[in-house]
Amino acid sequence: MSGFMILMGPCFSCGLVFGYNPDKVPSYDGQAICEPCIEQVNTKRKATGLPLWPVHADAYEPQEV
Ligand SMILES: [Zn+2]
Repeated sequence: MSGFMILMGPCFSCGLVFGYNPDKVPSYDGQAICEPCIEQVNTKRKATGLPLWPVHADAYEPQEV
């Protein structure tokens, strides 16, 4: 059996419930972080010269199982 799986859960940072790929999504303390939040984090990190948080291209896409 095959199909697509996506997990729904609240963002660690803003609390918004969003869908994500549990294997690829950036997370903190086991809780996923949504795309706008991770972009905001990376914008700040870039401005302060810190390495960017890696975000997989499929992080917010359904996972093929
Ligand atoms: Zn968020």
